[in-house]
Amino acid sequence: MPAPFTPSVSVVVPCLNEEDAIAECHRRLSEVLRGLDLWYEVIYVDDGSRDLTPAKLAALHASDPNVAVIELSRNFGHQPAVTAGLEAARGEVVVIMDADLQDPPEVIARMLEKWAEGYEVVYGVRASRQGESGLKLWSAKVFYRLINKLSDVEIPVDSGDFRLLDRKAVEAMKSMPERHRLLRGMCSWIGFRQCGVSYARAPRVAGATKYPIRKMVKLALDGIASFSTFPLRVLALIGVASAVLALLGIVYALVVRLFTHSWVAGWTISFIGLLFLGGLQMISIGIVGEYVGRIYTEAKHRPLYIARSVLYRRGGAPSHAAGEQLQSAASRS
Ligand code: UDP
Ligand code: MG
Repeated sequence: MPAPFTPSVSVVVPCLNEEDAIAECHRRLSEVLRGLDLWYEVIYVDDGSRDLTPAKLAALHASDPNVAVIELSRNFGHQPAVTAGLEAARGEVVVIMDADLQDPPEVIARMLEKWAEGYEVVYGVRASRQGESGLKLWSAKVFYRLINKLSDVEIPVDSGDFRLLDRKAVEAMKSMPERHRLLRGMCSWIGFRQCGVSYARAPRVAGATKYPIRKMVKLALDGIASFSTFPLRVLALIGVASAVLALLGIVYALVVRLFTHSWVAGWTISFIGLLFLGGLQMISIGIVGEYVGRIYTEAKHRPLYIARSVLYRRGGAPSHAAGEQLQSAASRS
Protein backbone atom coordinates (compact mmCIF):
# COMPACT_ATOMS: atom_id res chain seq x y z
CA MET A 1 0.00 0.00 0.00
CA PRO A 2 1.49 3.38 -0.95
CA ALA A 3 2.11 5.81 1.89
CA PRO A 4 -0.57 8.51 2.40
CA PHE A 5 2.12 11.13 1.84
CA THR A 6 4.07 11.16 -1.39
CA PRO A 7 6.59 13.98 -1.53
CA SER A 8 9.31 13.82 -4.14
CA VAL A 9 12.52 12.77 -2.43
CA SER A 10 16.15 13.53 -3.22
CA VAL A 11 18.76 11.49 -1.39
CA VAL A 12 22.23 13.04 -1.26
CA VAL A 13 25.13 10.60 -0.82
CA PRO A 14 28.70 11.98 -0.58
CA CYS A 15 31.34 9.46 -1.65
CA LEU A 16 35.08 9.50 -1.11
CA ASN A 17 36.84 6.31 -2.23
CA GLU A 18 33.77 4.16 -1.67
CA GLU A 19 34.24 1.73 -4.59
CA ASP A 20 33.47 -1.27 -2.38
CA ALA A 21 30.42 0.22 -0.69
CA ILE A 22 28.55 1.85 -3.57
CA ALA A 23 26.85 -1.17 -5.13
CA GLU A 24 25.45 -2.42 -1.83
CA CYS A 25 24.50 1.12 -0.80
CA HIS A 26 22.55 1.66 -4.00
CA ARG A 27 20.86 -1.72 -3.79
CA ARG A 28 19.55 -1.16 -0.26
CA LEU A 29 18.69 2.48 -0.80
CA SER A 30 16.78 1.75 -4.02
CA GLU A 31 14.87 -1.06 -2.35
CA VAL A 32 13.63 1.33 0.33
CA LEU A 33 12.82 4.16 -2.08
CA ARG A 34 11.01 1.94 -4.59
CA GLY A 35 8.93 0.56 -1.73
CA LEU A 36 7.76 4.07 -0.85
CA ASP A 37 6.20 4.54 -4.27
CA LEU A 38 7.14 8.16 -4.90
CA TRP A 39 9.27 10.24 -7.26
CA TYR A 40 12.86 10.02 -6.12
CA GLU A 41 16.40 10.73 -7.19
CA VAL A 42 19.65 9.60 -5.62
CA ILE A 43 22.38 12.20 -6.02
CA TYR A 44 25.83 10.72 -5.56
CA VAL A 45 28.56 13.31 -5.07
CA ASP A 46 32.02 12.03 -5.86
CA ASP A 47 34.33 14.06 -3.65
CA GLY A 48 37.53 13.61 -5.64
CA SER A 49 37.89 9.85 -5.21
CA ARG A 50 41.10 8.21 -6.36
CA ASP A 51 39.66 4.74 -6.81
CA LEU A 52 36.95 3.31 -9.07
CA THR A 53 34.19 5.34 -7.41
CA PRO A 54 33.63 7.74 -10.38
CA ALA A 55 33.43 4.85 -12.87
CA LYS A 56 31.04 2.92 -10.65
CA LEU A 57 28.82 5.97 -10.23
CA ALA A 58 28.77 6.59 -13.98
CA ALA A 59 27.70 2.97 -14.48
CA LEU A 60 24.91 3.40 -11.94
CA HIS A 61 23.75 6.51 -13.80
CA ALA A 62 23.67 4.55 -17.04
CA SER A 63 21.67 1.68 -15.57
CA ASP A 64 19.25 3.48 -13.25
CA PRO A 65 17.27 6.51 -14.46
CA ASN A 66 16.80 7.73 -10.87
CA VAL A 67 20.50 8.34 -10.34
CA ALA A 68 22.27 11.69 -10.64
CA VAL A 69 26.03 12.06 -10.22
CA ILE A 70 28.05 15.16 -9.40
CA GLU A 71 31.77 14.73 -9.79
CA LEU A 72 33.84 17.32 -7.93
CA SER A 73 37.15 18.41 -9.40
CA ARG A 74 39.09 17.37 -6.28
CA ASN A 75 38.52 16.39 -2.66
CA PHE A 76 36.68 19.35 -1.13
CA GLY A 77 35.62 17.53 2.03
CA HIS A 78 32.46 15.91 3.29
CA GLN A 79 30.56 19.08 4.17
CA PRO A 80 31.09 20.87 0.81
CA ALA A 81 30.24 17.59 -0.99
CA VAL A 82 26.91 17.39 0.84
CA THR A 83 26.35 21.07 0.01
CA ALA A 84 26.86 20.32 -3.69
CA GLY A 85 24.17 17.65 -3.41
CA LEU A 86 21.78 19.96 -1.55
CA GLU A 87 22.14 22.58 -4.26
CA ALA A 88 21.36 20.10 -7.02
CA ALA A 89 18.48 18.36 -5.21
CA ARG A 90 15.02 18.92 -6.72
CA GLY A 91 12.82 16.96 -4.36
CA GLU A 92 10.35 18.45 -1.88
CA VAL A 93 12.27 16.52 0.71
CA VAL A 94 16.02 15.94 0.82
CA VAL A 95 17.72 13.18 2.79
CA ILE A 96 21.45 13.27 3.51
CA MET A 97 23.07 9.87 3.94
CA ASP A 98 26.55 8.31 4.04
CA ALA A 99 27.63 5.85 1.35
CA ASP A 100 28.91 3.27 3.83
CA LEU A 101 25.44 2.22 5.06
CA GLN A 102 26.29 3.20 8.62
CA ASP A 103 23.05 5.12 8.38
CA PRO A 104 20.48 2.45 7.45
CA PRO A 105 18.28 3.63 4.53
CA GLU A 106 15.33 1.84 6.13
CA VAL A 107 15.15 4.73 8.63
CA ILE A 108 14.13 7.08 5.79
CA ALA A 109 10.57 5.72 5.90
CA ARG A 110 10.30 6.69 9.57
CA MET A 111 11.76 10.11 8.81
CA LEU A 112 9.12 10.63 6.14
CA GLU A 113 6.38 9.77 8.62
CA LYS A 114 7.69 12.50 10.90
CA TRP A 115 7.81 14.90 7.95
CA ALA A 116 4.15 14.09 7.21
CA GLU A 117 3.36 15.00 10.82
CA GLY A 118 4.69 18.47 10.07
CA TYR A 119 8.36 18.37 11.06
CA GLU A 120 10.63 20.24 8.67
CA VAL A 121 13.89 18.74 9.89
CA VAL A 122 14.13 15.13 11.03
CA TYR A 123 17.60 14.14 12.20
CA GLY A 124 18.89 10.67 12.95
CA VAL A 125 20.01 10.07 16.52
CA ARG A 126 22.53 7.29 17.01
CA ALA A 127 21.09 5.20 19.79
CA SER A 128 24.05 2.83 19.53
CA ARG A 129 27.17 2.63 17.39
CA GLN A 130 28.79 -0.59 16.32
CA GLY A 131 32.16 -1.20 14.75
CA GLU A 132 33.67 2.13 15.67
CA SER A 133 36.84 2.63 17.66
CA GLY A 134 36.80 3.67 21.32
CA LEU A 135 38.62 6.85 20.33
CA LYS A 136 35.94 7.75 17.79
CA LEU A 137 33.12 7.21 20.29
CA TRP A 138 34.92 9.19 22.96
CA SER A 139 35.82 12.05 20.63
CA ALA A 140 32.25 12.24 19.33
CA LYS A 141 30.97 12.45 22.88
CA VAL A 142 33.40 15.21 23.83
CA PHE A 143 32.64 17.01 20.55
CA TYR A 144 28.90 17.33 21.16
CA ARG A 145 29.23 18.26 24.84
CA LEU A 146 31.90 20.85 24.06
CA ILE A 147 30.12 22.40 21.13
CA ASN A 148 26.86 22.72 23.03
CA LYS A 149 28.64 24.32 25.99
CA LEU A 150 30.63 26.76 23.91
CA SER A 151 28.44 27.67 20.99
CA ASP A 152 25.28 29.63 20.56
CA VAL A 153 23.28 26.87 18.91
CA GLU A 154 22.28 23.57 20.42
CA ILE A 155 23.17 20.54 18.30
CA PRO A 156 21.22 17.45 19.35
CA VAL A 157 23.63 15.06 21.06
CA ASP A 158 24.61 12.06 18.93
CA SER A 159 23.00 13.36 15.77
CA GLY A 160 25.13 13.31 12.64
CA ASP A 161 24.54 14.47 9.12
CA PHE A 162 22.02 11.68 8.46
CA ARG A 163 18.83 13.71 8.29
CA LEU A 164 15.79 14.71 6.31
CA LEU A 165 15.20 18.32 5.31
CA ASP A 166 12.02 19.85 4.00
CA ARG A 167 12.36 22.08 0.93
CA LYS A 168 12.04 25.19 3.15
CA ALA A 169 14.94 24.00 5.30
CA VAL A 170 16.99 23.18 2.19
CA GLU A 171 16.45 26.69 0.82
CA ALA A 172 17.47 28.13 4.19
CA MET A 173 20.66 26.06 4.18
CA LYS A 174 21.41 27.12 0.61
CA SER A 175 21.17 30.76 1.67
CA MET A 176 24.11 30.30 4.07
CA PRO A 177 27.31 30.84 2.10
CA GLU A 178 29.93 30.33 4.81
CA ARG A 179 33.05 28.43 3.91
CA HIS A 180 33.76 26.83 7.28
CA ARG A 181 30.71 24.65 7.48
CA LEU A 182 29.29 22.38 10.08
CA LEU A 183 26.02 21.40 8.43
CA ARG A 184 24.45 19.94 11.56
CA GLY A 185 25.13 23.22 13.39
CA MET A 186 23.71 25.28 10.53
CA CYS A 187 20.74 22.98 10.46
CA SER A 188 20.00 23.73 14.12
CA TRP A 189 20.51 27.42 13.56
CA ILE A 190 17.88 27.72 10.79
CA GLY A 191 15.11 26.78 13.24
CA PHE A 192 11.87 25.20 11.93
CA ARG A 193 10.11 22.31 13.61
CA GLN A 194 12.72 19.64 14.28
CA CYS A 195 12.67 16.20 15.78
CA GLY A 196 14.89 13.16 16.03
CA VAL A 197 14.47 9.54 15.00
CA SER A 198 16.71 7.11 16.83
CA TYR A 199 18.49 4.29 15.08
CA ALA A 200 21.32 1.85 15.63
CA ARG A 201 24.44 2.94 13.76
CA ALA A 202 25.76 -0.05 11.86
CA PRO A 203 29.40 -0.80 11.09
CA ARG A 204 30.70 0.22 7.66
CA VAL A 205 29.79 -2.28 4.90
CA ALA A 206 33.19 -1.86 3.27
CA GLY A 207 36.31 0.28 3.29
CA ALA A 208 37.72 2.37 6.11
CA THR A 209 36.63 5.65 7.65
CA LYS A 210 37.45 8.78 5.64
CA TYR A 211 37.49 10.83 8.82
CA PRO A 212 40.95 10.59 10.39
CA ILE A 213 41.67 12.53 13.59
CA ARG A 214 42.93 15.48 11.56
CA LYS A 215 39.59 15.94 9.79
CA MET A 216 37.65 15.42 13.01
CA VAL A 217 39.61 18.15 14.76
CA LYS A 218 38.99 20.48 11.83
CA LEU A 219 35.26 19.75 11.94
CA ALA A 220 35.17 20.40 15.70
CA LEU A 221 37.06 23.69 15.34
CA ASP A 222 34.74 24.77 12.52
CA GLY A 223 31.77 24.04 14.74
CA ILE A 224 33.07 25.91 17.76
CA ALA A 225 34.53 28.90 15.98
CA SER A 226 31.66 29.30 13.50
CA PHE A 227 28.92 29.32 16.07
CA SER A 228 30.48 31.15 18.95
CA THR A 229 32.85 33.87 20.04
CA PHE A 230 33.19 32.14 23.38
CA PRO A 231 36.95 31.46 22.99
CA LEU A 232 37.50 35.19 22.53
CA ARG A 233 35.46 35.88 25.66
CA VAL A 234 37.49 33.32 27.63
CA LEU A 235 40.61 35.21 26.56
CA ALA A 236 39.22 38.47 27.88
CA LEU A 237 38.37 36.79 31.19
CA ILE A 238 41.86 35.31 31.53
CA GLY A 239 43.24 38.74 30.67
CA VAL A 240 41.22 40.36 33.49
CA ALA A 241 42.25 37.64 35.94
CA SER A 242 45.93 38.03 35.12
CA ALA A 243 45.64 41.81 35.39
CA VAL A 244 44.23 41.40 38.90
CA LEU A 245 47.06 39.01 39.75
CA ALA A 246 49.59 41.46 38.33
CA LEU A 247 48.11 44.24 40.50
CA LEU A 248 48.53 42.09 43.61
CA GLY A 249 52.08 41.38 42.49
CA ILE A 250 52.81 45.10 42.15
CA VAL A 251 51.49 45.79 45.65
CA TYR A 252 53.58 42.90 46.98
CA ALA A 253 56.70 44.12 45.18
CA LEU A 254 56.25 47.65 46.53
CA VAL A 255 55.73 46.42 50.07
CA VAL A 256 58.83 44.23 49.87
CA ARG A 257 60.85 47.07 48.33
CA LEU A 258 59.80 49.75 50.81
CA PHE A 259 59.49 47.90 54.09
CA THR A 260 62.08 45.08 53.96
CA HIS A 261 65.75 44.71 53.08
CA SER A 262 65.51 41.49 51.03
CA TRP A 263 63.99 42.87 47.85
CA VAL A 264 66.32 41.15 45.36
CA ALA A 265 64.58 37.89 46.22
CA GLY A 266 61.59 39.03 44.12
CA TRP A 267 63.42 38.07 40.97
CA THR A 268 61.86 34.59 40.91
CA ILE A 269 58.30 35.78 40.89
CA SER A 270 58.90 38.43 38.25
CA PHE A 271 60.57 35.87 36.05
CA ILE A 272 57.67 33.47 36.39
CA GLY A 273 55.25 36.31 35.77
CA LEU A 274 57.11 37.25 32.63
CA LEU A 275 56.95 33.71 31.27
CA PHE A 276 53.31 33.36 32.22
CA LEU A 277 52.27 36.57 30.50
CA GLY A 278 54.37 35.72 27.46
CA GLY A 279 52.61 32.38 27.13
CA LEU A 280 49.21 33.93 27.66
CA GLN A 281 49.86 36.48 24.95
CA MET A 282 50.92 33.81 22.49
CA ILE A 283 47.73 31.83 23.15
CA SER A 284 45.63 34.96 22.79
CA ILE A 285 47.25 35.93 19.51
CA GLY A 286 46.74 32.36 18.29
CA ILE A 287 43.02 32.39 19.05
CA VAL A 288 42.49 35.85 17.59
CA GLY A 289 44.49 34.68 14.57
CA GLU A 290 42.12 31.72 14.17
CA TYR A 291 39.21 34.12 13.85
CA VAL A 292 41.09 36.52 11.58
CA GLY A 293 41.99 33.57 9.35
CA ARG A 294 38.33 32.65 9.13
CA ILE A 295 37.36 36.21 8.24
CA TYR A 296 40.01 36.07 5.51
CA THR A 297 38.76 32.84 3.96
CA GLU A 298 35.14 34.00 4.13
CA ALA A 299 36.07 37.35 2.58
CA LYS A 300 37.60 35.67 -0.46
CA HIS A 301 34.15 34.47 -1.51
CA ARG A 302 35.44 31.46 -3.32
CA PRO A 303 32.94 28.85 -4.42
CA LEU A 304 32.50 26.03 -1.92
CA TYR A 305 33.28 23.38 -4.48
CA ILE A 306 33.94 23.00 -8.19
CA ALA A 307 32.26 20.30 -10.21
CA ARG A 308 34.00 18.54 -13.08
CA SER A 309 30.78 17.08 -14.42
CA VAL A 310 27.12 16.70 -13.54
CA LEU A 311 25.01 13.80 -14.75
CA TYR A 312 21.37 14.61 -14.18
CA ARG A 313 18.67 12.11 -13.34
CA ARG A 314 17.64 10.66 -16.66
CA GLY A 315 14.06 10.35 -15.52
CA GLY A 316 13.71 14.18 -15.41
CA ALA A 317 12.54 16.55 -12.69
CA PRO A 318 9.51 16.06 -10.43
CA SER A 319 6.29 17.32 -12.01
CA HIS A 320 5.76 20.21 -9.63
CA ALA A 321 7.62 23.51 -9.97
CA ALA A 322 9.69 24.89 -7.12
CA GLY A 323 6.94 27.33 -6.05
CA GLU A 324 4.36 24.58 -5.90
CA GLN A 325 6.76 22.50 -3.86
CA LEU A 326 6.90 25.18 -1.22
CA GLN A 327 3.15 25.55 -1.24
CA SER A 328 2.43 21.89 -0.92
CA ALA A 329 4.96 21.62 1.88
CA ALA A 330 3.27 24.50 3.68
CA SER A 331 -0.26 23.24 3.20
CA ARG A 332 0.18 19.61 4.23
CA SER A 333 -1.31 18.84 7.58
N1 UDP B 1 33.29 11.67 2.64
C1 UDP B 1 33.45 12.59 1.61
N2 UDP B 1 34.53 13.42 1.63
C2 UDP B 1 35.49 13.40 2.61
C3 UDP B 1 35.29 12.47 3.69
C4 UDP B 1 34.19 11.63 3.68
O1 UDP B 1 32.61 12.67 0.70
O2 UDP B 1 36.45 14.16 2.55
C5 UDP B 1 32.10 10.79 2.65
C6 UDP B 1 32.38 9.30 2.81
O3 UDP B 1 32.57 8.69 1.55
C7 UDP B 1 31.13 8.81 3.50
C8 UDP B 1 30.72 9.99 4.34
O4 UDP B 1 31.35 11.14 3.78
O5 UDP B 1 30.07 8.53 2.59
C9 UDP B 1 31.11 9.84 5.79
O6 UDP B 1 32.47 9.50 5.89
P1 UDP B 1 32.98 8.30 6.80
O7 UDP B 1 32.00 7.16 6.75
O8 UDP B 1 34.37 7.99 6.43
O9 UDP B 1 32.94 8.99 8.24
P2 UDP B 1 32.56 8.26 9.61
O10 UDP B 1 31.26 7.55 9.41
O11 UDP B 1 33.69 7.33 9.88
O12 UDP B 1 32.48 9.41 10.57
MG1 MG C 1 30.86 6.25 7.99
